[in-house]
Amino acid sequence: MPNAAFKRGGSFLVDALLPEEIFTPEDFDAEQQMYAKTAREFVEKDVLPRDAEIEAKELDVTVGLLKKSGELGLLMADIPEEYGGLGLDKASAALIVESLAGQGSYQVFHLVQTGIGSLPIVYYGTPEQKRRYLPGLADGSLLGCYGLTETAAGSDALAARTKAVLSADGSHYVLNGSKQFITSARVADVLIVFAKVGGEQFTGFLVDKGTAGLSFGPDEHKMGIHGCTTSSIIFEDVQVPVGNVLGEIGQGHKIAFNILNMGRFKLGALAVGMCKRAIEHSLGYCLERKQFGQRLVAFGAIREKLGQMVARTYAAESMAYRTVGLIDQLLAGAADKYGEAGLDSIEEYSVECSMVKVVGSEALDHVVDEMVQCYGGYGYCGEYPAEAYYRDSRINRIYEGTNEINRLVIATMLVRKATSGVLPLFEAAEDVGVPAEAATGVVGAEQAVVANLKKIALLVLGLAARKYGRGLGKEQSIVLRLADLVSATYVAESTLLRTQKDVARRGEAGAALPVAVTRITCEEAIDQAERLARQCLVAMGESGFLETLAALVKRTPADVVAAREVIAAKLVEMERLTI
Ligand SMILES: Cc1cc2nc3c(=O)[nH]c(=O)nc-3n(C[C@H](O)[C@H](O)[C@H](O)COP(=O)(O)OP(=O)(O)OC[C@H]3O[C@@H](n4cnc5c(N)ncnc54)[C@H](O)[C@@H]3O)c2cc1C
Repeated sequence: MPNAAFKRGGSFLVDALLPEEIFTPEDFDAEQQMYAKTAREFVEKDVLPRDAEIEAKELDVTVGLLKKSGELGLLMADIPEEYGGLGLDKASAALIVESLAGQGSYQVFHLVQTGIGSLPIVYYGTPEQKRRYLPGLADGSLLGCYGLTETAAGSDALAARTKAVLSADGSHYVLNGSKQFITSARVADVLIVFAKVGGEQFTGFLVDKGTAGLSFGPDEHKMGIHGCTTSSIIFEDVQVPVGNVLGEIGQGHKIAFNILNMGRFKLGALAVGMCKRAIEHSLGYCLERKQFGQRLVAFGAIREKLGQMVARTYAAESMAYRTVGLIDQLLAGAADKYGEAGLDSIEEYSVECSMVKVVGSEALDHVVDEMVQCYGGYGYCGEYPAEAYYRDSRINRIYEGTNEINRLVIATMLVRKATSGVLPLFEAAEDVGVPAEAATGVVGAEQAVVANLKKIALLVLGLAARKYGRGLGKEQSIVLRLADLVSATYVAESTLLRTQKDVARRGEAGAALPVAVTRITCEEAIDQAERLARQCLVAMGESGFLETLAALVKRTPADVVAAREVIAAKLVEMERLTI
């Protein structure tokens, strides 16, 4: 399956990559940019003018918008052409999602429809199920939802209690139980749900709207995304034909986990889109608002915020598209991109998908928090956009696997790959060698930082695996720090490589803003790594390695204050977000 340039998921920790080997947002072609433009115009012209109705939960308005977006082709990126879709690559699908950011509730509806509410059928449906549902899900004439969570089975999704019992004549299953917090359940035509056959075999089912015995609890009163309907689903002797079993009996966990990987990189892309919109609003406000006789953008405190907001966004964007680029590269060589081989290609990068989700959602929370601060008291009031952005963003750290669960995935998957010999991480950890020295070039110092970040992550990973062995998963304090160490490395490298590629294209002066972002990202990554690694080494009783750590973090610190000012000056000069 792998082609010559195939990079294993997680191998970035041991590989030295060239800038031209990664996909970056600057690589989007005219067709991809056209999809993005269509999506942005749809949000501006159709969605945002209906904000009040959407937030008042006038669901016919939101459903109507979803159907309109279907007519524009915005729901069909991931659906194969033979079933009425466009069958686009994942980079295009992610870019469309990013470009749909702007109205918190609508974008979640859209994400569910094009993600968890349809992808399980794309990847696991029988030809008959695909013929029945996919054309409608592609054009918006059918709506989907995804019911995995239960009251006693949230992060521990496989603890589900909903049961499916085969009827005596073998024609159907009878479902009893309930699902909790299901987005779009009340408006969905097809409900993708999970139940345990015989109380044990976790299995996917497709339940049609209106099936006898199916009902819904009241809408949850939520902190944000007020226009979304989120409710429980109740199954009371719901009869589901055997032809509606999704995938194989007892294999529902594969559906649940593989689809989550896709949800995670898309959520990361959406978070980037929201960050960009939040920055545009904040900049616009700070250009207008005056205090002490000056525009807010004149104040250093505000300029630093704007600079940092852009830096976090650019970094999250770099890693999100690098990851979808890796997936697309592997998918391009897959025998059947919508079958087992396609799923394997996406699963290969599950560590990266989790990092994209965690880093993207946390960058977004930083950005919207600073957005509120830029607006001051008006940021706290509903008639300005900051208040809704702040509330609507918070959910992203909770669904598609909480950020804690994703951090556990990052660290434990890497250790598993190392233990099974898929990745030579332990070998590399045995000898982290001498610290890398600054190379020549505008981001030469940052190249050394990234090389040393890898050494630090490998050092801690190797020591942790040696100390705890199979018990490492239980040492959550270490595991969570390890995940952050690895993520900081991936973010820093993704940012650096993208910037190097950009410098080669536009020259140092043209790429001044990316260079500034790279300085900030790498400096913060190594600062964070030093702290995390130190805490791990001390906690593991490995203080003897503190000297090695000190050598790896030794550097002439980058001037992050100046770098933020470079970014802010550019924003203020252009009066818009431009990277
Ligand atoms: C608005 C909204 C929309 C949603 N939409 C959907 C949907 O469409 N379909 C669907 O199926 N679900 C949906 N969910 C459910 C969502 O995926 C779950 O809320 C989420 O997976 C967490 O489960 P939980 O709420 O039961 O929290 P819990 O699992 O109880 O977690 C509580 C806390 O404990 C932590 N924790 C749990 N287990 C561990 C562990 N092993 N180690 C360390 N920390 C741990 C968590 O990270 C979290 O901080 C939605 C939820 C909300 C709020």
